[in-house]
Amino acid sequence: MTMTLIRFAAIALGGLILTACATAASESAPAPETPEWRLVIHGGAGVILRSQMTAEADAEYRAALHAALDAGSDILRAGGSALDAVEATVLVMEDDPLFNAGKGAVFTAAGTHELDASIMDGRSRDAGAVAGVTRVKNPIRAARAVMEQSEHVMFAGTGADAFAEAQGLELVDNTYFNTDRRREALERVLEQRTRSDADRHGTVGAVAIDRDGNIAAATTTGGMTAKAAGRIGDTPLIGAATYAENGVCAVSATGHGEYFIRVGVAKTICDRVKFAGEDITTAAEVALAEVAALGGDGGVIVIGGDGAYSFVFNSEGMYRGVSSPAGASVAIYRDE
Ligand code: ASP
Repeated sequence: MTMTLIRFAAIALGGLILTACATAASESAPAPETPEWRLVIHGGAGVILRSQMTAEADAEYRAALHAALDAGSDILRAGGSALDAVEATVLVMEDDPLFNAGKGAVFTAAGTHELDASIMDGRSRDAGAVAGVTRVKNPIRAARAVMEQSEHVMFAGTGADAFAEAQGLELVDNTYFNTDRRREALERVLEQRTRSDADRHGTVGAVAIDRDGNIAAATTTGGMTAKAAGRIGDTPLIGAATYAENGVCAVSATGHGEYFIRVGVAKTICDRVKFAGEDITTAAEVALAEVAALGGDGGVIVIGGDGAYSFVFNSEGMYRGVSSPAGASVAIYRDE
């Protein structure tokens, strides 16, 4: 493994959140006696360096992460389901041009947008996904509609857009997703014929546990800048970027999708927890080590069936946050 695996784990006890980092202090605590709700999010992983971020951009990202956490937390606080919470959370991020999902999604090499999303309900292991949609304003809504209103798990391309339309979901012209920042990134990538990892981060995801102990996961993305038309990443693939099973774990991943597909990251993590009895952080570290061994990078957010949670990433940073009855916190860089 060429990259250092950075571990950020957190275990919650009652109202107290304890954070452990392999390069810093490590703390642990038993699971809370009374199940509490908890929401964990990411807004993409990659080379996200303090030195490259203006104070303004830093503040903007933190505010956006808090806004997303607020949307899901309101639902969980009121006794709503983990499923509703993860959908509402990533919906806010899809509508925020800062993130590579929904409005603000990256461009394909053809100068258009093709979006992927998936969602999974840990209660039943029902799942829904859309891949390569071009007109659905909020792909996560379409993924949920696939799960609840069809007999299938995944729809792709024009059929997915048509399905969303038939479900009464809002459709937009593909140019709705345009932003100057992503256009500049496309032009740079096409000119330099190389894609920096900043040209894909911004994928968003959420995992949650509700007061009833149910868990869920959701992930949504525009993919990678200048991706070939028709390319599908890991985000809409159940078992690659998204997985949830009550009593086991819920995972949402972000990173170089081709590697996450080949490793089957989300299912690998949940299988290690379920069949090998590993804790969620160890399981996530093992899966990401597999990704790194193949040459990929990225990160995952994981929530266990007992409400423990973990951020694990082998990139320079990951936009991330967590909220619970004890409050909310967000982070961006590796060293915080
Ligand atoms: N996993 C996404 C993809 O490969 C991109 C990312 O998460 O940064 O499409």
